[in-house]
Amino acid sequence: MTTLLIADGEATAHALTAALRLGGDVHILEVPANALAEPLAQSIADLGGYDAIVAPATSTGKNLLPRIAALLDVMLISDILEVAAPDTFRRPTYAGNAIETVQSSDRIKVVTVRASAFPPTATHGLKAVSVAPADTTLSRIVSEDAQKAAGPELGSARIVVSGGRAFGSKDKFDSLLIPLAEKLDAAIGASRAAVDSGYAANDLQVGQTGKIVAPDLYIAIGISGAIQHLAGMKSSKVIVAINSDPQAPIFAVADYGLVGDLFTLVPELTSKL
Ligand code: FAD
Repeated sequence: MTTLLIADGEATAHALTAALRLGGDVHILEVPANALAEPLAQSIADLGGYDAIVAPATSTGKNLLPRIAALLDVMLISDILEVAAPDTFRRPTYAGNAIETVQSSDRIKVVTVRASAFPPTATHGLKAVSVAPADTTLSRIVSEDAQKAAGPELGSARIVVSGGRAFGSKDKFDSLLIPLAEKLDAAIGASRAAVDSGYAANDLQVGQTGKIVAPDLYIAIGISGAIQHLAGMKSSKVIVAINSDPQAPIFAVADYGLVGDLFTLVPELTSKL
């Protein structure tokens, strides 16, 4: 059994743990810079000789692996939480409300891994594989402007402070959340309503259609706790909710709840830290 692990940042070490649980050797492939998904997927599918192709369920993994699975004519097994056996995996479904067990009889397993569900394993010592993207499309990347976040990265931060629609404006979102995040060395997250209202950038969205996070501490401020938001954060180890409505659904998953006005409570909390 030989597995090809497609590397993508810090999540790679977590995906390696899942890859090792398949048994056998693991080779690692660094994605070439400025490679588009279509030609790269073709090159990886053409490599041959692998029993499994594994990547973290990051944007890169989610971009590449469905294409590779389609080219190999096998099923994609996405966002796994557990390797029960080399052909059997546990993964969330219905926005994380159910966990299904999937057994695959495909000759090649193509799998994306939820990084937060596996501890990291050091990736040094793995055999490195390289590919050049196949020359199959008319498109190429001309330039890329990556945003530099000031604090820790949302996907791997130990603490996340997230804000919702209740902040009412980008000014309030920034002026209340940034000082709190700085004191806690936390990453900032947001509900979709906050992102849609322009308070926070798209890549800060937590939830079913945003990032899945599982930090040691998640503080949800002015967030109601809609099922689609919970899908992205309910595996957090400790959840704190600040909300003026004692009936807000977020309190059903919170370990600690503070009922009150965020515009009073957040500055008070920040000043006491
Ligand atoms: P609201 O639901 O408006 O809640 C605001 C909360 O703030 C309320 O609970 C209120 O009591 C509280 N509040 C108000 N004023 C104060 C105050 N002064 N102090 C303290 N608390 C206060 N949502 C996501 O977050 N992530 C996703 O990935 C996502 N994906 C989706 C995918 C689909 C297909 C669909 C249909 C929806 C998705 N949503 C997602 C949207 C989701 O259903 C909710 O609409 C959204 O999460 C609500 O955001 P919110 O909690 O910030 O806003």
